[in-house]
Amino acid sequence: MTNCLFCKIVAEEIPSAKVLENTDFLAFRDIDPKAPVHVLVIPKKHFEDIVELSKGDNVLTAGLMKFATEVAEIEKLEKGFRIVLNTGQEGGQSVQHVHAHVLGGRSLTWPPG
Ligand code: AMP
Repeated sequence: MTNCLFCKIVAEEIPSAKVLENTDFLAFRDIDPKAPVHVLVIPKKHFEDIVELSKGDNVLTAGLMKFATEVAEIEKLEKGFRIVLNTGQEGGQSVQHVHAHVLGGRSLTWPPG
C-alpha cells in the first residue's frame, strides 16, 4: 500500500530500529516507547488490522503471535510481557497496518486506559 507508514518501513523508505526479521514479518522498536522494551511486530504484507488479517490469512495470523513471542525471548522478557493489538478507533489504533505491540521490562498495570 503506497501511503502506509509501516509499508514504507518494510520497504526501508523510512528507517527503523530492527529487532528481528524473516520473510513474512518484521519487528522494530517503537519510536515512542511506553515501556523499557516496546517492539512492534508486523506482517510485511499489508492488512489494515487484526480483523482483516484473521479473515484473510490463517498462517500469518498464527505466525504473528509466534513471531511476537520470539521477540519477547530475544528481548529477555522472561519475567513477563504483554502483547497488544490496538484495533479500530475505540481500540486506539493510529497506524492502519496491523501490528502487535510487545511491551515489557517493567511491571505493567491493568486495566489499560
Ligand atoms: P497504535 O497506536 O496501536 O496504532 O500504534 C502505533 C505505534 O506506532 C505507536 O506506538 C507509535 O509510537 C508507533 N510509531 C509511529 N511511527 C513510528 C515509526 N516511524 N517508527 C516506529 N514506531 C512508530
